[in-house]
Amino acid sequence: MKIKSIKAHALSVPLKYVYAVATEPFTVATQIIVEITTDNGLTGLGTIHGRAAKPVVEAVEKLSHLLIGMDAHAHEAIWAKIFALTNDGAKIYKDGDTASMGFRTAQRQPIMAAQAGIDIALWDLKGKACNLPVWRLLGGGSKEIHAYASGGYYRKDKPVEIVADEMAAYIEQGFTAVKMKTGGLPLAQDIDRVRRVREAIGPDADLMIDASRSYSLMQAVDAIHAFEPYDVFWFEEPLHWYDAIRGMAKLTQHSNTPLTCGESESHLWACRDLVDLGLVRYLNFDCTRAGGVTEWLRIASYSHAHGVLMTTHHDPQIQGHLAAAVPNGYCVEVFADEDRDPLWNNLFSQRAELRGSKLVLNDEPGFGYAINWDYVNKYRV
Ligand SMILES: [Mg+2]
Repeated sequence: MKIKSIKAHALSVPLKYVYAVATEPFTVATQIIVEITTDNGLTGLGTIHGRAAKPVVEAVEKLSHLLIGMDAHAHEAIWAKIFALTNDGAKIYKDGDTASMGFRTAQRQPIMAAQAGIDIALWDLKGKACNLPVWRLLGGGSKEIHAYASGGYYRKDKPVEIVADEMAAYIEQGFTAVKMKTGGLPLAQDIDRVRRVREAIGPDADLMIDASRSYSLMQAVDAIHAFEPYDVFWFEEPLHWYDAIRGMAKLTQHSNTPLTCGESESHLWACRDLVDLGLVRYLNFDCTRAGGVTEWLRIASYSHAHGVLMTTHHDPQIQGHLAAAVPNGYCVEVFADEDRDPLWNNLFSQRAELRGSKLVLNDEPGFGYAINWDYVNKYRV
């Protein structure tokens, strides 16, 4: 099964409202779809999460020239070939001029993102070639995985009572765990938001909070104590991007609230350090942002050996298969609000389903999703 073509399709869908986390606003939902065809007539689909579409689409195009003709089952060899470009490409590619392909070390991020989409499409192909869903290909015994509803964004037009109503509505829909944003307001106001949400969802629901890398260590120490009375299930990405690993270990000395991190990292080595030096309890490495399935599985293995549980960031149609299959897969993040995530309800003509607090994968080969190309064409960029 040889790679015949690799294409990238980018779309950007305007959101109904401006949604904000502590560090930035969102006005669009974006996705890049990577489509790989093979000489035996199969098509593998991967998706890439992220907003800077142009450099990533260009990276996929450039990489396609290196990969066409390779064995589509050779995901490790293909992974290594792409990864080498982020480090020492000029030495490795004696037969081609990587400089003329436009890759420099400054382009690591788009290369890692392109690699994610290509690797995911290869795993989709592998499943289709074996006629197995990826969750079974990886050895999983169940197609169901615990899902939590992610929401509680900051909205200028949205008073704090409505955030509490939103989170309570998820519980009414059947979710047993919800996540909200923090860090975007002065601490006293954020405490008020968290208190209202806890009152609205009741004492039994799990409440995660996500500060989106907005606190210094000392601010995070104050915040983690202040949120303790509201029984926080995990505190996600509390610290600024530049002190996001060792600072976590210092934070754990101040509180038993479990810490979660990983979605902003792009490789195994950073996640190893989060486990070793940061003492995180849950890792939400995003295989659609960097590294793909291959890197997610390596991170899951390392985490398993250190008692760390795996969760995910966005794109449950892909990452649900991984969390469902590995021994330390704990849960997946899903978005149940169509205004915040129009892609979940419109981008697919077939996909996994949400039932209560579970993501239920299907038995179709590969990742079991099909793309609604009319929707892609409508919002293509
Ligand atoms: Mg997050």
